[in-house]
Amino acid sequence: MPIRVFNTLSGQKEELVPLEAGKLGIYVCGPTVYSFVHIGNARTFTSFDVVVRYLRYRGYQVKYVRNFTDVDDKIINAARESGEDPIALAARYVEEFRRDASALHLLEPDVSPKVSEHIPEILRLIRRLEERGVAYRSDGDVYFAVGKYSPYAKLSKRNLEDMKAGARVEVGEQKREPLDFALWKAAKPGEPAWEGPWGKGRPGWHIECSAMSARYLGESFDIHGGGLDLIFPHHENELAQSEAASGKPFAKVWMHCGFLDLEGAKMSKSLGNVVRLRDALSRVDAEALRYFFLSTHYRNPLSFGDKSLSDAEARMEYFYETLRKIDARLKGKEPGPGPVHGEPQKFLSDFEAAMDDDFNAAGALAAVSGIFAAANELIDRPPVKDKAVVERTLSVLREQVRRISRVLGLLEDAPEAWLARRKERLVKERGIDRGRVEALVKARDDARRAKDFATADRLRAELKELQVEIMDTPSGTVWWPAREISDSVPVTDGLSARIS
Ligand SMILES: [Zn+2]
Repeated sequence: MPIRVFNTLSGQKEELVPLEAGKLGIYVCGPTVYSFVHIGNARTFTSFDVVVRYLRYRGYQVKYVRNFTDVDDKIINAARESGEDPIALAARYVEEFRRDASALHLLEPDVSPKVSEHIPEILRLIRRLEERGVAYRSDGDVYFAVGKYSPYAKLSKRNLEDMKAGARVEVGEQKREPLDFALWKAAKPGEPAWEGPWGKGRPGWHIECSAMSARYLGESFDIHGGGLDLIFPHHENELAQSEAASGKPFAKVWMHCGFLDLEGAKMSKSLGNVVRLRDALSRVDAEALRYFFLSTHYRNPLSFGDKSLSDAEARMEYFYETLRKIDARLKGKEPGPGPVHGEPQKFLSDFEAAMDDDFNAAGALAAVSGIFAAANELIDRPPVKDKAVVERTLSVLREQVRRISRVLGLLEDAPEAWLARRKERLVKERGIDRGRVEALVKARDDARRAKDFATADRLRAELKELQVEIMDTPSGTVWWPAREISDSVPVTDGLSARIS
């Protein structure tokens, strides 16, 4: 089955056909490093992380490039406020980003180029645009002449006349037409600047991605991605510059990730609704946050809130708890070949079918849920008597979880370790007195051993009041912060999450 992907450029879902058989180049616009990465960007980067992982799972040799914008007005302004050197401030936030990205289990891209390290490429590209007559100098600045590039706005599909009417010229800009945009900005005091043929200055915002994608992926490449907010003007301008300079098609497929709403309010720094990824990760498990991001199709808007996070973590607990049960049942044995119950392999094909359909991770999670429902049934209410068949089927299901985990970046931890961390978080969050709980659990065990069931029942009730549940297992009593969770958590519906 071919992979189908929604291409913003064509406005429809189309078959993903690599420019070179078996290989794919993907460029994702990375963070502007003037502060900590916020949760909206984290969603975008997680979506593309899973796209890259899935393309590799499907056997493609993927080259993944995600840049750092380390020369920018926002950085200069932040540096002015903190009294730091702008390049040093950006370098600091590059490291902070790397720390956060790794905490969210994001793959390191193959190349993470920085603007400040690609000035020669940028200068060459601007020179070429000048030579082709689509760029002009004005008072030390260089601008792209939108009027000289007729396919302009083919990505955002905006109406040029409306745009002209709405465009405004910023103070200090020296452009001929309101839609023209800066390729090079003349140096101002206190700003980072490099020597160029037009005098000292620094690149405009958009030119970096044209220059760096060409350097690492070639003038034409397969997939360009980013957040929905980048379509205009950033991607539109990248596209115009690149195609005007090379005379070749730029990215073949453009993918855009939807907005993250913060309890309904559009994720926007200007509105001040900024939640840092780091803050979110101090409250919720990284895999649970990934689960939450992936539970809605990447093109759809997603609402962020405390409830959604706790639901996602409860869902992950149910998965890990089930994995623990499977592992306890299989005890590391590999059941030999033989019959299985039902069609346990079908979950993997459901998973692939969902991912082939425009990387529908929400549909993929529905397949994952199917695996765990099947495993719980096999363990708790086995539909077949033959234990070898049950164990062989569980083993097939377990192997599918392993394969899917690597693509979604979920369930990659050891169940015991993950569950222990989850318990610790719940104990802290709910202010449960661990010492008291453990004393009561021990007293109850002693009462049971002495066949004093009235006392045992009273102690169980007391534990319940402390919001603690207990389970009597062959290896002793296990306690856990009370769940309002597991099966009551709505299972992601892959169909409703699908958009066409
Ligand atoms: Zn970009």
